[in-house]
Amino acid sequence: MSDPVVSELAATCHGKVEADASLASLTTLRVGGPARVLVTAEQDHDLAAVGEVCRRHRLPWAVIGRGSNLLVADAGWPGVAIVLGRGYRGLELVGERLRVGAAEPLPSLAVRIADAGYRGFAWACSVPGTIGGAVRMNAGAHGAELRDHLVEAELFRLSTGTRELWPATTLGLAYRSSELPADAVVVAATLALDRGDPEEERAAIARIRAWRRTHQPLNEPNCGSVFTNPPGDSAGRLIDVAGCKGLRVGGAEVSRRHANFIVTRPGATATDVATVIERVVAAVESDAGLTLRPEVRRLGTVVADHDLPTSWSTDDPEVGRP
Ligand SMILES: Cc1cc2nc3c(=O)[nH]c(=O)nc-3n(C[C@H](O)[C@H](O)[C@H](O)COP(=O)(O)OP(=O)(O)OC[C@H]3O[C@@H](n4cnc5c(N)ncnc54)[C@H](O)[C@@H]3O)c2cc1C
Repeated sequence: MSDPVVSELAATCHGKVEADASLASLTTLRVGGPARVLVTAEQDHDLAAVGEVCRRHRLPWAVIGRGSNLLVADAGWPGVAIVLGRGYRGLELVGERLRVGAAEPLPSLAVRIADAGYRGFAWACSVPGTIGGAVRMNAGAHGAELRDHLVEAELFRLSTGTRELWPATTLGLAYRSSELPADAVVVAATLALDRGDPEEERAAIARIRAWRRTHQPLNEPNCGSVFTNPPGDSAGRLIDVAGCKGLRVGGAEVSRRHANFIVTRPGATATDVATVIERVVAAVESDAGLTLRPEVRRLGTVVADHDLPTSWSTDDPEVGRP
């Protein structure tokens, strides 16, 4: 029997609507089960339809960008997952301000900004997320972060079906976090940029890419840094000192190249990843007396397969509920 939520959304949305859609392939960790429904939104009308259908059926919703900071539960996710389609891409330069569609990938954006003669955005060349995900996470690297450039974000509110303009100062952007409302889909962002030398920026991008290739396991599926750095220290150093490099459960392993990365192999499960996370947390607690906080976001009920206390077993707060 067909899912009424799928038929209702398919009848209204311009973008693609899929039932029981695999989410593993939408994430860089490449693990996890399906979403009940996946909608590729092409315009605000589609987002409004998702909000309305979720309210009527009392279903949760969640936005997926590039899935580069996302761990999806093996059992999948019983709500409507939203991906922003091509309708949410594009750049518009007005003076020294750049309005960017939320589905734009950061790496190509960094190159285009450098080529256009602006500086300061090279750090984003190796962060494989979208602008929308970068606003939600306040992504950053190499001493810079998105809030250094962000002037304002356009938020589509799923609970009201309206688009709102939020100045960056109202978004609660902090180290790898924000205080965006749970029903907010970032649909565009405006960045302030300074004029620079394209050659210098391209050289900075090349340096960052080379550094990443040497120091990070870029040829294996991962989600970047799994834990945030505690104040004044580095999660990678603490994990390394606690002896966790190479710690393996099923198809998930603490990278030998960078201890704050977990890499997955074909056949790995979200439970494998969660169990590695729990073991790392326990090892660092026992070695350094510090509790590491995951930076990776969860979708669904992620379970570790043993008796260690699980510090994070359910959806993150940005999963919206009507
Ligand atoms: C190899 C590698 C290196 C990385 N290096 C870095 C780094 O140096 N610095 C860094 O900060 N991160 C890094 N990351 C992590 C990741 O790329 C960032 O967190 C990025 O900002 C996530 O963007 P995304 O589009 O993939 O979001 P997703 O992973 O899809 O989602 C992350 C969160 O953002 C929410 N979200 C996504 N899109 C939207 C939207 N349009 N509106 C509202 N909410 C949204 C999701 O619901 C979820 O809660 C790395 C990841 C990898 C795989």
